[in-house]
Amino acid sequence: MLEAIGVSRRYGWRWALKDLNLSVSPGETLALLGKNGSGKTTLLKTLAGLLKPTQGAVRLSGQPISREAKGRIGLLSHEPMLYEGLTVRENLEYFARLFDVEREEMLTRVDLLAGTLEIEERLDEPVRVLSQGFRQRAAFMRTLLHTPEVVLLDEPFSGLDTNAVQRLESVIDLMRDLREYIVVFTTHDLSKAFEMAERIAVLAGGRLVYEEDVENSSEEDVSAAFDEYAGGSA
Ligand code: ADP
Repeated sequence: MLEAIGVSRRYGWRWALKDLNLSVSPGETLALLGKNGSGKTTLLKTLAGLLKPTQGAVRLSGQPISREAKGRIGLLSHEPMLYEGLTVRENLEYFARLFDVEREEMLTRVDLLAGTLEIEERLDEPVRVLSQGFRQRAAFMRTLLHTPEVVLLDEPFSGLDTNAVQRLESVIDLMRDLREYIVVFTTHDLSKAFEMAERIAVLAGGRLVYEEDVENSSEEDVSAAFDEYAGGSA
């Protein structure tokens, strides 16, 4: 289980997250919605252990996010974290070494992910020549290469064409068939949230203002939560 317990985070004098409590279980996908500046990216980075909460704590399986626990987490952020001058395959080999993934395992994993993402023919091209859609596919491979238990995806589908979106969705489906992942993704797309997640949470001004299972929720409820808290600050 991944938990945020009373998490607050401040940048200078400004609170980006305020007293946030959240837990996500293995096998569960949570969609995180909220306007720009509501704290979504800060929350994902905090859950990933990249940012320390100013107050409160993040725990994975009851433990603080240690160096070792970071190896159990995959984060896809706005920065693709790929080396432009290296090919996709070289990038993956580099990250595999960083995460101590054995070569055999890496090769099997690359085959599986590249096949599902339909990126096989681009693996030996440098990242800098790739379209946005193929960069995102490569970034997905990097995120999932070390078989993390926790997958945190910041706006994974934004700015992509339909084909790339479909490939990314099928890799998420594939992962969910392989293992009980904890998945948290942020999105602006309400229908995508309902299509992919079991639970929806809405952030406004750094606070969690709505949280509900998809089966007990509707797009109208979520929109109402958005409108009610529009412009609210932490
Ligand atoms: P979202 O992902 O929902 O757009 P963010 O987490 O990026 O929201 O930002 C939440 C708030 O924190 C915003 O007010 C933003 O301006 C502020 N913020 C984010 N990153 C920084 C930073 N590195 N330094 C200062 N303020 C930041």
